[in-house]
Amino acid sequence: MTTLDRGVVRLDPHSLRIKRFSALTTMILPSLGTILAVYLLATGRFTALDIWLFAGMYCVHIVGVTIGLHRHVTHRSFKTSRWLQDVLMAAGGMAAQGPLLFWVATHRRHHRFADHEGDPHSPNLHGAGWRMRLRGLWYAHMPWMLSEESTRWSVFAPDVLRDRRLVAHHRLYPCWVLLGLLLPTLLGFALGGNLWTAFTGLVFGGFARVFAANQASWAVGSICHAFGRRPFGNDDHSTNSWWVAILTFGEGLQNNHHAFPRSYRHAVRWWEPDLSGWIIAVLGKAGLVWDLRVPSPALIAKRSAKNKEPERK
Ligand SMILES: [Zn+2]
Ligand SMILES: [Zn+2]
Repeated sequence: MTTLDRGVVRLDPHSLRIKRFSALTTMILPSLGTILAVYLLATGRFTALDIWLFAGMYCVHIVGVTIGLHRHVTHRSFKTSRWLQDVLMAAGGMAAQGPLLFWVATHRRHHRFADHEGDPHSPNLHGAGWRMRLRGLWYAHMPWMLSEESTRWSVFAPDVLRDRRLVAHHRLYPCWVLLGLLLPTLLGFALGGNLWTAFTGLVFGGFARVFAANQASWAVGSICHAFGRRPFGNDDHSTNSWWVAILTFGEGLQNNHHAFPRSYRHAVRWWEPDLSGWIIAVLGKAGLVWDLRVPSPALIAKRSAKNKEPERK
């Protein structure tokens, strides 16, 4: 393992093989499951239960990633009880986006170097011209996960390393991924009543759900650093994209998020689509989460791109 700058290490061949095998598995198996799901849809061999399992597991997946892995652990934007943290970490693990320490360290490095050298998944570092832009967009969407580099946990996630419960969740990652497949299978069997409905539950609520929800999640790193509105004058190319925000429960408001990374909500205006922010607000009213962080109106005004314009002239 060679240590590079910026808290990054170059993996030895053995570790790189493991990393690429697990990344490719979580990309290829859900893709194959999705092809099967489309075939079942096209041939009418599905029921309303399959659609409900897909939708329900999609919500669990996105909530686990956005509220659990992202806003709670990575950015510490709110606090919660141990049991709710456990639930959120299990749901986040079911997303099959990598173990907790990998997720947190990689995402914090993305914020630290956003769209500059050192960013693990920027679409803007591959040169000019439409071909290079397209290559950057594709790299930021998926192939970045196969990179020879690995973010050092001790540099980017020392607080997580010190937390025994979170380290346990990091180690339980394979169990949570399997639970994410087992749950829709068991529900398919329990509610559908036979082995075929258990199988289609696995296909729709398991594999196709992982594929669809992760394509939406990865669009945050690719599309939302290339196309969309930039209301805040951040030192990066982050954008707000409403359709990605709707699919990812608010994460597509990436320009807002890079301006105020510690805020529990990604919407700055009440009408911006941020389902995860609304859920956290409701949980806060119910006393299940607390110490919710938000930027002050003065800070929002200061960071606004409109207000930054005169400074540049
Ligand atoms: Zn970003
Ligand atoms: Zn973030």
